[in-house]
Amino acid sequence: MVSTNLPHFSELQYNVAGLLQETAGGMRTADVHVPISRLDQLDESVDVVAPFVGTVRLLKASTNVLARLVGETTVRLTCARCLEPFSYVLHIDLEEEFHPSVDVNSGAAITDTGDDLALVINEHHVLDMTEILRQAMLLSLPLPPLCREDCLGLCPECGANLNEESCNCQNDDIDPRWAALNALIVSDSDTNHPE
Ligand SMILES: [Zn+2]
Ligand SMILES: [Zn+2]
Repeated sequence: MVSTNLPHFSELQYNVAGLLQETAGGMRTADVHVPISRLDQLDESVDVVAPFVGTVRLLKASTNVLARLVGETTVRLTCARCLEPFSYVLHIDLEEEFHPSVDVNSGAAITDTGDDLALVINEHHVLDMTEILRQAMLLSLPLPPLCREDCLGLCPECGANLNEESCNCQNDDIDPRWAALNALIVSDSDTNHPE
């Protein structure tokens, strides 16, 4: 595997003019480090709290470029059950095929670039992975967001966070096995123990 640094203008944007002139199988790899400030600009609905760190690999196919981006970042989410904020690591592993819009040798425009504008290499031979990273991040968000699988949520009666405290609102519905225990606790606390 040939591994070289890719010429880039900013994070996630790579000049692939050299790669496009190679035969199929030509490859470039690079480390990727996208700062939080730039990730925050991608999508207002996502609160990013760690840079995106990973690797990119660009592979020359017959006329197109296969781009693979692997890495991770961390976002801040709000639990759908208990409404507490929590951190969630987004693992990104995507592969997309990018289409040149200009023939790198002749300079002639290429009209057949596919339907997805995010996957078009521009007239300056710049391949931009910004939009596909944004889409992949949104698709990687958990639905619903839960601070943990077994989050107990809030009591619908008193609003207590049942992960942190119990309340007495729903004694009627309580599992009978626990009701017996609950009765013990109540009678115990009602009893005045001599010091
Ligand atoms: Zn929760
Ligand atoms: Zn309650």
